[in-house]
Amino acid sequence: MTSVALNGKAPYKTVLTHGFVVDVDTRQKISKSNQGAGGYQKPTEADHFVKTYGADIVRLWASSVQFTDDVPFSEEIFARLTDTYRRIRNTLRILLANLSDYDATATVAEPTLIDRWILARLQETVNTCRKAYEELSFQKVYQAINQFCAVELSSIYVDVTKDRLYCDKVDSPRRLATQATMAKVFGDLVRLLAPILAFTAEEAWGHYRPGSLVHLELFPKEKASDQEILAQFESLLHLRGEVSQALEKAQRDGVIANPLEATVHVVTDDPVLLAAARERLPEIEELLILSNFTITEGNKSSSTEKSAAASITIGKTEAAKCERCWRHREEVGAHAEHPTLCGRCVEAVESLGSATA
Ligand SMILES: [Zn+2]
Repeated sequence: MTSVALNGKAPYKTVLTHGFVVDVDTRQKISKSNQGAGGYQKPTEADHFVKTYGADIVRLWASSVQFTDDVPFSEEIFARLTDTYRRIRNTLRILLANLSDYDATATVAEPTLIDRWILARLQETVNTCRKAYEELSFQKVYQAINQFCAVELSSIYVDVTKDRLYCDKVDSPRRLATQATMAKVFGDLVRLLAPILAFTAEEAWGHYRPGSLVHLELFPKEKASDQEILAQFESLLHLRGEVSQALEKAQRDGVIANPLEATVHVVTDDPVLLAAARERLPEIEELLILSNFTITEGNKSSSTEKSAAASITIGKTEAAKCERCWRHREEVGAHAEHPTLCGRCVEAVESLGSATA
């Protein structure tokens, strides 16, 4: 008001107002003025929470609430947030670990199907977060990043690519493609997180690019995401869910002891799945984390109309198990020098031998 009287304008460009923080049970406003004798007895000072949980979690909490209304608060809500924090932190740690031998100057291999998909989902997350930051909708940033880390990144992408990262030979094209993808995901994710998890982002970035500061970086750019791969993956993830249910049943029924010894045959009339299988069957097998996967065309009955697959048949493979990657492959036993390994693992082990020789 002083500035308006003296200068004819407010001393800021934008102002953000927020609701009261209220006790989750009593809905009573929590403030310093009602603390103490007869008033509110629980801690209200930010200091208490910074000391107990760390400043990043206090900021994560502030980003997680719908601040335009009254904000229900309890120490339990706060404690629960530490799980989300650990999940995000763990995601960054896994990415860094997988990038430990990454050579950014190496020729970048063509991204595989699953790399293209996670990059498309990353771009969607970038677009959502940029827009949300612009609108000061921090809750949307929190939700988008949390979903991306917990679901797409951890339980699908990292889970599926583990095998190629750990078992392929060091310079296999698909391993390099995944490392290049993870480097991009890590860089974008840390920059998006930096305004909220300031210390965590700085620490993670320091391991990735020692000597540089994430807080001097710009946000990743807004771009259109790869809609073709997102549509294709909708069918593939649908199929993944159905196959995993069928595998669980087969395990319960004693047909197989674990999914890697299963033979899985899918019949479907989904044109997207059929086209993907024609071009990239080994990648679909990898996405489903299987040793032996086949797919053929056939019509659905009315009972399976809503499913991706018309039928899924599970059997037990005759092929022996590779001692190194646990895939069951026909060629295990064929190599004289390494009779317990599959072809891919023989190649990987021999390349290690020649590297140390
Ligand atoms: Zn193997």
